[in-house]
Amino acid sequence: MKREVRVRFAPSPTGGLHIGGLRTALFNYLFAKHHNGKFILRIEDTDQSRFVPGAEEYVQRSLEWAGIIPDESPIHGGQYVPYRQSEREDKYLKYAQELLDKGLAYFAFDTPAELEEMRSKLKDAGLVNLNYNSASRMTMKNSLTLSEDEVNARIEAGDPYVVRIKVPAQDEIRLKDNIRGWVHVHSSALDDKVILKSDGLPTYHLANVVDDYLMEITHVIRGEEWLPSAPLHVLLYRYLGWENEMPEFAHLPLILKPDGNGKLSKRVADKAGFPIFPLTWIDPVTDQTSIGFRESGYLPDALVNFLSLLGWNPGTDREIFSMEDLIGSFTLDRIGKAGTKFDIEKAKWFNQQYLNSKSNQELGEYLKNELNTKYDIECELATAESISAQLKTRVTFLHELVDSSLIFFEKPGEYDQKIIRKRWNAESETALKTFAQNLSGKEFSTSEEIKDDFQNTMNALGINPGKVMQILRLALTGEGSGPDLMEIIRILGSEESNNRIINATKAFNQIKRADQDEEKKEDQ
Ligand code: GLU
Repeated sequence: MKREVRVRFAPSPTGGLHIGGLRTALFNYLFAKHHNGKFILRIEDTDQSRFVPGAEEYVQRSLEWAGIIPDESPIHGGQYVPYRQSEREDKYLKYAQELLDKGLAYFAFDTPAELEEMRSKLKDAGLVNLNYNSASRMTMKNSLTLSEDEVNARIEAGDPYVVRIKVPAQDEIRLKDNIRGWVHVHSSALDDKVILKSDGLPTYHLANVVDDYLMEITHVIRGEEWLPSAPLHVLLYRYLGWENEMPEFAHLPLILKPDGNGKLSKRVADKAGFPIFPLTWIDPVTDQTSIGFRESGYLPDALVNFLSLLGWNPGTDREIFSMEDLIGSFTLDRIGKAGTKFDIEKAKWFNQQYLNSKSNQELGEYLKNELNTKYDIECELATAESISAQLKTRVTFLHELVDSSLIFFEKPGEYDQKIIRKRWNAESETALKTFAQNLSGKEFSTSEEIKDDFQNTMNALGINPGKVMQILRLALTGEGSGPDLMEIIRILGSEESNNRIINATKAFNQIKRADQDEEKKEDQ
């Protein structure tokens, strides 16, 4: 019988969850859901020295915001509780003991200085692999070289020791990676890694393999940086007699810097001025605040869509995928081996697409609320909807919608002088004044009616409407470009528009006069 698909995202709470971690979580989630399986969040917190308070909670909040909801986790519970490795310590000891009993692991008492000495000796002998393994272990202080009595005496005396796995001298370790194909490693290239530390806690390798087995994980989908550890994990499965239950592996391609030169990192992102964390992260050690994607205005579904295409492709040109679409389409065979460039402009493009596809009603409600709380502006829902309809194609982020809507509520404070110099003349003055007069007292229900009115007024004056559009816009908004002008007039209403135009004509004339005075001075 085929096993139910069970995958896990297994972060260590050593800092803020990086965007690369969120992609790993997403790919695991999509794979699980595609196969009607389970997505598990397991917290790998056995390394006490790297523990960062708040990091676990941050992971949980980030996943929730992105809509990547675990079926089992420290907060959701599940059949395999607990999901925090620090609460499962007793389980690892048992397997470390089993390996010791079978002669597949051993105690080692070497001090850091002795380890250093060993490495430098190997280096002097011209070796490349400075490993603690079959080539060097018999020269060290461990239960393979010391007598049983001495080992027991040392342990009883409280000498610090670790437990190391005994990697075979001559063996080939093979594993099939779903993305990379067969990976072969000769055991002489491996290290007798520590599986139990001197504080009695397991290392990542032991805890990770034991938990994947106990939690019946079927597929290990993780970043490429874990590929070098995979042969050791295969060996642990073999030593513990779990080869038949070994999960399949898939190591995801690296996320590269925007120029493709090297790995994306927090430093790179900080320098380029884009976020790297899903939510704002305040480092509890340095107190440094890093603004998140959420706080920068990214919508979670846009970010998820963007991340889904970092390494995976649907095999077509299609780019817009909802979470449901992704679940339907996602397969491991469409993940590439090559590193994938992180292009923040593309992330913005997705955000724009998602913002644009929101209904005017949803955006209007948001805008009405924000205007009220941020600027103390009261605005009818219908007006907020009309404004949203005009602005949504022109902004990338929600907060820009709010900021750029202010032209509807605040009279222009300044005007672009270049446009005044270019476009303000006797003809445009007549055009604007006549149109303003014409507006007064009129009610328009559509922008089409306003357009007709404007055109008729211009025709009657014998003025080409195209020649005065920009200065009319400037008069109404203070800006040389923006959303549909007739819609702006409709939303502002006839009285407000009339007012703004009249005020502007006065300001334009003043500016023109000041210019002329300046010119005269220069001529004298
Ligand atoms: N705890 C590891 C990490 O921090 C998990 C790696 C794995 O998925 O095996 O990424």
